[in-house]
Amino acid sequence: MTGSEIHVTECRCPTCRNAQPWSDECRRCGTDLSLLRRLADESGQLHRVFFAALTANDFPLAERTLQRLSEISPTPVMELLLRFVKSWKSNDS
Ligand SMILES: [Zn+2]
Repeated sequence: MTGSEIHVTECRCPTCRNAQPWSDECRRCGTDLSLLRRLADESGQLHRVFFAALTANDFPLAERTLQRLSEISPTPVMELLLRFVKSWKSNDS
């Protein structure tokens, strides 16, 4: 492990960039991190729902879950996964 690694149990303050354990307020600058924390909690929960939906072949739920994840964290990987799930849906009908 290096000093620059950030664990999922840690966050980086968007204001001062200080890495720290999750809390509702930055230890260094006092920035309110509660919204960021709620988004991280929701994202973790959505990832669990997404993989459970895939395991159960519940593609509508997987798509809805991915849609919300892509709103929280719009990344190329999310867009790609969303396109895959939508293609499964169109092949299913
Ligand atoms: Zn800070």
